[in-house]
Amino acid sequence: MSATPPPPSVLGVAIPSPLRRLFDYRPAATPPTGGWQPGVRVQVPFGRRQVVGVVLECRATSDLPLAKLKPIDACLDATPLPADWLWLCRFTARYYQHAPGDTLHQAMPALLRQGRTLEARTRERWQITEAGADEAPPTLARAPRQAELLTMLRQHPHGLVSQAILAQSFGRDQLQALERKGLIMRLEEPLTAAAPSGGPLLAEPALPLNREQATALAALHERLDGYHPCLLHGVTGSGKTEVYLQLIEAVIGRDRQALVLVPEIGLTPQTLARFRRRFRVPVVALHSGLTDHERLDAWEAAASGRAPIVIGTRSAIFTPLARPGAIIVDEEHDGSFKQQEGLRYHARDLAVVRAHHHGIPLVLGSATPSLETLQRARSGDYRHLRLTQRASRHAPARLELVDLRGRPRRGGLIPPVIDAIEATLSAGHQVLVFINRRGFAPTLSCHACGWLAECDHCDARLTLHRQPPLLACHHCDHRQALPDACPECGSADLRPLGSGTERTEETLAERFPDVPVHRIDRDSTRRRDALEQTLAEVRRGDPCLLVGTQMLAKGHHLPHVTLVVVVNADGGLYASDFRALEHSAQLLEQVAGRAGRAAHPGRVLVQTMHVDDPNLRLLAARGYDALAEQLLEERRIAALPPFRFLALLRLEGAQETAVSELGNRAAQALRTYLGERALDVDCLGPVPAPMERRQNRYHLQLMLGAEKRSRLHEASAWLVAWLEAEPAARRVRWSLDIDPQTL
Ligand code: ADP
Ligand code: ZN
Ligand code: ZN
Repeated sequence: MSATPPPPSVLGVAIPSPLRRLFDYRPAATPPTGGWQPGVRVQVPFGRRQVVGVVLECRATSDLPLAKLKPIDACLDATPLPADWLWLCRFTARYYQHAPGDTLHQAMPALLRQGRTLEARTRERWQITEAGADEAPPTLARAPRQAELLTMLRQHPHGLVSQAILAQSFGRDQLQALERKGLIMRLEEPLTAAAPSGGPLLAEPALPLNREQATALAALHERLDGYHPCLLHGVTGSGKTEVYLQLIEAVIGRDRQALVLVPEIGLTPQTLARFRRRFRVPVVALHSGLTDHERLDAWEAAASGRAPIVIGTRSAIFTPLARPGAIIVDEEHDGSFKQQEGLRYHARDLAVVRAHHHGIPLVLGSATPSLETLQRARSGDYRHLRLTQRASRHAPARLELVDLRGRPRRGGLIPPVIDAIEATLSAGHQVLVFINRRGFAPTLSCHACGWLAECDHCDARLTLHRQPPLLACHHCDHRQALPDACPECGSADLRPLGSGTERTEETLAERFPDVPVHRIDRDSTRRRDALEQTLAEVRRGDPCLLVGTQMLAKGHHLPHVTLVVVVNADGGLYASDFRALEHSAQLLEQVAGRAGRAAHPGRVLVQTMHVDDPNLRLLAARGYDALAEQLLEERRIAALPPFRFLALLRLEGAQETAVSELGNRAAQALRTYLGERALDVDCLGPVPAPMERRQNRYHLQLMLGAEKRSRLHEASAWLVAWLEAEPAARRVRWSLDIDPQTL
């Protein structure tokens, strides 16, 4: 009786291509050590190219005659890629209706995509032997450089890595000579050191928890063994991170690994330093700044289990773990967890699926939970843990609404607000001015005829920049020089309309010449460390003004800021996107959370044209949670997420007619299908996208909605299959967004 199945005759391979199918090959090359299995990478001919694919099926038959199948060229792995990773990729491809090959490729490090092997990458270390430790070995009398090298290594009983030795201008031949004489030895060690075994786990003691933190941690400790999803709902500064750290301590104590996801803006050197300070084990960080080699090392360290803590942004959800113990998603409401192009996944949602699959605790942390998560906590799907107290004892400041109507503005600010800024600076504190537009002004206008500078390629205005002076489109990156006169009427009276960060910065610098003004936006922080440098200076605590976009609103601990000014709160109030208000309330609450985080209480002034808006008033009077309750009720009545599931088909092309023809035909075909199957799914559109023309391309969308996820899935799978089979769809770019975050 043999346990090994007969070798397959056909391999179903996922190829990096937009097609939602596998491609069949013959397993001609030498099989991997453990036999053919899903998850083994192969090199195969594809069209005229050679590509790296992943075996997903091992079968006896194919729809094609076996003789017609091409043989694979090579097998690239002795054993399959990690099983938990493969499972997640397959789930992701199915759930988001994305091509399996492209899903796998996007979810693996670049070097694996290129066919490199996943083995622990090592470095060399040279260490003194017992013989080498002896006094003056006689064999070195005539080799002074070798003697010097030996002396150096004697001073480093744990050895030195080759790089360090070669940097001292010793040569490889000297190392090898000493090795031959048995005086030193060569060791191979992994790049990411293993967790030290034995000894204390913590490098610095955990903070004594306050009552609420202790209750939350106790609740998490109750079930470290099964799927246990929790919303850690804590006001900004309430010590959520401390709860994560102590949960991780318990997870590592049980010899498991913790995966921590943070928003793009949140993976700062301070965050990392905080994790690294606490534990004596390696903390592996995955972010966009890594080289391909570093990324592969991190992946390998996680997959092998050597890295007990893995912390990263969105794509880190695809990190394999040998012994998963907990998943934490910090700022779970943050928009950066959703990938907006290609494979349109939501890392927070995949974290839920993954924690469920592994049977491990899941913590979703936020001061302003998404309505999706909040609803699941209210309904009992998630445990709802609350932290209402700030560690600093100052309650988060309430928003004070300031009426903008009929008042003169300078750099977007009205006189009473400027007075409040002055008072705060004279008291020796810092002020943060939040303005959600970069550039000098949202646009340029002609005072004579009312002309506005618009992008030639998009349905959008051009933003006026002063540093350097130009007009730029923030949607397509088109740039043009400033006109000398109005292109419509020839008047030279062109004026900036409204304020952006540059203009507010300029106004404040004129008004407060003795105080440094730091501007923080995408333009001022293009250099990688610019933001960190500025923040380091701000943390020293001298009075200063910070002017910035949402880059400033999130995550940063700015202990000396006691006044926060929101230049204009109105952007999200009347937007067409049903989530705009939720997102704008989250942002306002996060900005407000920057005020008064340390010794002094804070104030938050919010300028608005709509002081009577009921939503804004509710947010100001009772905070995000109260507004969220109300928004949930409205969503329930309107049958919108989280009470309904949506999918959005986006269509775009250079020819308006081609796009709308395809949109109409797809909608018609779908409606016929839904009718025949009596599927409870509705189909809205096609309608023009909110910005119909972008980069000279026309954008159209079709919305699918259903009360049951399975129905939506069935309908969208059918729609995708229809589009793939439709010749006209090849001339139009289309994509399907499951659970779209922006419409
Ligand atoms: P959050 O993640 O909820 O915004 P943090 O964990 O960053 O909050 O905590 C805010 C500040 O409070 C930090 O400076 C942190 O060191 C401090 N802090 C958190 N918990 C405690 C505690 N139990 N005792 C004292 N200080 C604490
Ligand atoms: Zn004009
Ligand atoms: Zn444009």
